[in-house]
Amino acid sequence: MRKEEMREYFFRVKELEKISHAYIIEEESGQEADALAGDFAALLECEKGTGCGTCHSCLAYASGNHPDIIRVSHEKPDSIGVEEIRRQLVDDITIRPYSSPYKVYLVPEAEKLTVQAQNALLKTLEEPPYYGMIFLLTSNAGKLLPTILSRSVLLKLTEEEREELLLPEEDRNLFLSLLRQAGQLTVAQMADSVKTLKERKIPAGAAAALARVYLRDVLVLQSTGKRELLRMPEELDGYQEWAGEVSSHALHQILEEIDAMESRILSNVNYELAVELLLLTMKTTKKLGEHSGVVQEDF
Ligand SMILES: [Zn+2]
Repeated sequence: MRKEEMREYFFRVKELEKISHAYIIEEESGQEADALAGDFAALLECEKGTGCGTCHSCLAYASGNHPDIIRVSHEKPDSIGVEEIRRQLVDDITIRPYSSPYKVYLVPEAEKLTVQAQNALLKTLEEPPYYGMIFLLTSNAGKLLPTILSRSVLLKLTEEEREELLLPEEDRNLFLSLLRQAGQLTVAQMADSVKTLKERKIPAGAAAALARVYLRDVLVLQSTGKRELLRMPEELDGYQEWAGEVSSHALHQILEEIDAMESRILSNVNYELAVELLLLTMKTTKKLGEHSGVVQEDF
């Protein structure tokens, strides 16, 4: 599952009170698992039960000093030994939480646990205290013993898809400049651009994906103002222009038009026509926003 899906999953697990004592999060590359597990721990410990970010517990987590959210460390770069696991987890977990409902342990690089360390952990996984929770974070769950795997919930974190990157650089830039200028192009210029797109054989799926990412970014910027959530922050200037001129309702309409464009192309409607229709929608919608601030349902 992807990052946002896993976040959602943890929220649901908490809501339904189906929290397991042990999770393995496998993530081949990237470093999202640690933050996801930490955020889930913070949500469980939060005094308001919402991950509010402002209570005593949430602030302690944010500062990296939560007494009941414990990150297991190891000295040797290539292995986590049995003594390290005993001292930091197996023995420590028998002591009740300091100030929170749970005591949560994060074990990064769990594939480096030696067989003895895993066996030491097994007893705790078999009979965890009611307040105990363990996250094994790993790039390869296959390195863990079957007995460990069978006593944990295994979750696989996949990378965000970035289909738009499938376009060669030059095509990508060409299409992006079209998106930026969609409001200003004359119909003749638009027809020219669409012809170029077709000549360069830009695949419709990749173009649609890129347009979607672009417009979602505009929506995100409009609704949250948070630049760190953008998937293509380098496009900020163009986004700000779009966000200032077009309502979120209109943006949703354009997104629907992108879906329609894709299915038109899949059903073998003329490629030029499909892309032109899309750009025309964007142009019209943007112009509407510019002049009246009112969104019209049909054009
Ligand atoms: Zn809180």
